[in-house]
Amino acid sequence: MPTIVVLGAGVSGLTCALELAKQGRHEITVVAKHMPGDYDIEYTSPWAGANVLPMALDKDSRWERRTWPVLRRLAKEVPEAGLHVQTARVLRREKDVATGLKAALADGLFQFDPWYKEVMDNFREIPANELPKGMHSGCEFMSVCINTAIYLPWLVGQCAKYGVQFKRGIVKHISQAHNLSHTGKKADIVVNATGVLACKLGGVMDKAVYPARGQIVVVRNEAKGFMPTSSGCDDADDEIMYVMQRALGGGTILGGTYMRHNWDPNPDPNIAVRIMKRAVEAHPELTDGKGIEALSIIRHGVGLRPAREGGVRIEKEKIDGTWVVHNYGHAGWGYQGSYGCAEKVVELVDEIVKQEKRQSKL
Ligand code: FAD
Repeated sequence: MPTIVVLGAGVSGLTCALELAKQGRHEITVVAKHMPGDYDIEYTSPWAGANVLPMALDKDSRWERRTWPVLRRLAKEVPEAGLHVQTARVLRREKDVATGLKAALADGLFQFDPWYKEVMDNFREIPANELPKGMHSGCEFMSVCINTAIYLPWLVGQCAKYGVQFKRGIVKHISQAHNLSHTGKKADIVVNATGVLACKLGGVMDKAVYPARGQIVVVRNEAKGFMPTSSGCDDADDEIMYVMQRALGGGTILGGTYMRHNWDPNPDPNIAVRIMKRAVEAHPELTDGKGIEALSIIRHGVGLRPAREGGVRIEKEKIDGTWVVHNYGHAGWGYQGSYGCAEKVVELVDEIVKQEKRQSKL
């Protein structure tokens, strides 16, 4: 059996490990500096909301298209995975439409007549008489919200069920990962799912990768089934508005920011107040119209989205004589694209295995 080391235990690495393990054709070890249960500025996945708001343009939509059916099924049929169905409400502000919708969060989400209207269930344009003041237009559709504190450990459990082994480790150079298989053999393939740290990892050092800093406030208040987001806000170009209630008592996430090239791990109190004000203004049901004083704060947080000039990198490359399959640079859509990207990783691994078998090396 070919041996595979998956470097990284965020949503990208874990989903790849799971989809590879389900094939039953590989010996898989996940190696990571951070694992589910840890909260660290270098580990993005626990900080995500996370929900599904399609962000790609149609030409790049494969990852999100292929992921949605899986997340929908998990929300409907696998309650222990920590997802639940919520209604997404996407609003275009009049002033953003007037300036060409240069939204900080995503290219595809606020488009008119978006590709995802065919994909997301119960899609509807919001009629003019239902739009909040100052909104030009918008849409609603069925989505999900993921409680990452439950979903990431659930992924670990699923991997373990299919025989994946886990190890803590810090790798300075990608070639070191080849020696970390639990089998004791040199790995035939390394899957590089190192997120924003791909810009610092020896042998990769991808200078196109940068952080897009996301600050959030987690509160006990309930969002009553709706996840509103708008195309911009008056506070700053790199600040945004979204609200989502996590499944299974995970609290409600109020966001946020999208601050490019900003590595600051500390929540900024001024930004936190602006986040709460925007959320309560957009979604007064959060505090039954009683303003931000009626928010009950669980914690403040900051995560670094692994953004990349040119978009996600999913490709194979031989480094120092060993195959590496890269899967990093998912910016703000790592969950909602996770299964689509893992599917591509499986394809690339299969290609490598076939090629090496032809050359009798595996
Ligand atoms: P990470 O989660 O950062 O995992 C990287 C892994 O690699 C870690 O285990 C780390 O320890 C390991 N690693 C790195 N370097 C090394 C090394 N040298 N040696 C050993 N191990 C190493 N996405 C959505 O789909 N929907 C959302 O609603 C959403 N909301 C978000 C809100 C916020 C505030 C933020 C910050 C992000 C949000 N995202 C959302 C984006 C999503 O969180 C990321 O795209 C995703 O978590 C990236 O996962 P990853 O596995 O690639 O990276």
